[in-house]
Amino acid sequence: MEKLTILGCGSALPASGRHPTGQILEHNGKFLLIDCGEGTQSRMRENKISFDKISHIFISHLHGDHYFGLPGLISTMNLLGRTRDLHLFGPAGLIRILELQFELGKTFLSFSLKFTPVEKEEDILSLRGLKVQSIELNHRLKCFGFIFKEEKKTRRINGPVAKSVGVPHFFMDQLRLGEDYVDKDGNVIQNSVLTLEPKKSHTYAFCSDNRIQADFCNKVKGVSVLYHEATFLHQELKKAKKTFHSTAKEAALLAQEIKPDLLILGHYSARYRSVLPLLEEAKGIYKQTSAATYKDIYDFSKI
Ligand SMILES: [Zn+2]
Repeated sequence: MEKLTILGCGSALPASGRHPTGQILEHNGKFLLIDCGEGTQSRMRENKISFDKISHIFISHLHGDHYFGLPGLISTMNLLGRTRDLHLFGPAGLIRILELQFELGKTFLSFSLKFTPVEKEEDILSLRGLKVQSIELNHRLKCFGFIFKEEKKTRRINGPVAKSVGVPHFFMDQLRLGEDYVDKDGNVIQNSVLTLEPKKSHTYAFCSDNRIQADFCNKVKGVSVLYHEATFLHQELKKAKKTFHSTAKEAALLAQEIKPDLLILGHYSARYRSVLPLLEEAKGIYKQTSAATYKDIYDFSKI
């Protein structure tokens, strides 16, 4: 995974400058869209993200602020004559909603929409170097989060040393996998001399609307970057409980248990004009916290 771009970080009611949930996760040149709130396609344009590059879309649940942008985005892809398959993961009802819209609008897609219903916790996708798993969240209606887990990366070639020893090109992949090199005189050159430690493998957990339960930490144990909603300040705990959301303090307490390298907050209630109080509340408990704002880019190589 290279980077995460925030296209929206607000909750259900419109709030100036926030936009509803939408994130782009880049992995090996593929663009994965996570949730697709209203206006996501406009946000993509503003951030110069090509629609055609989106290969997979993951929708957490059927509250409008998490998917109202999807019919528009798919229609635009169609208008642009997309031919590549589009893989869509989400609640079973999602495809019914889309198909009804296309049917009544007499829209015939120029590409194949491959839909996978997400109804339980399981491995849902395996891409080169990345596995995606669904985790059930605790919300007013069926809701799933997604864990994106990078496979262990291979060692990196130490170019100047490998060149000075004369390692042939065809042996480079074996070097990356950790093999020693034996030169033509029979000298063994240790792999550790010829290569560098692999880059860090990250695990990113996207937890959209979720009232955190006591055992939830078991589902996100070991993740290095945790996105968790923080709809309210803790003084609104009653409201958070009633609407099945979490407070910034609760998100931070979860982070304190699992200790990710970074906690990213989002999904703020429109009642908060500034996200600073939410960030401060969380940071008081878990220092490595960031409050996502529109257009933020998280570079995984720097986390
Ligand atoms: Zn919701």
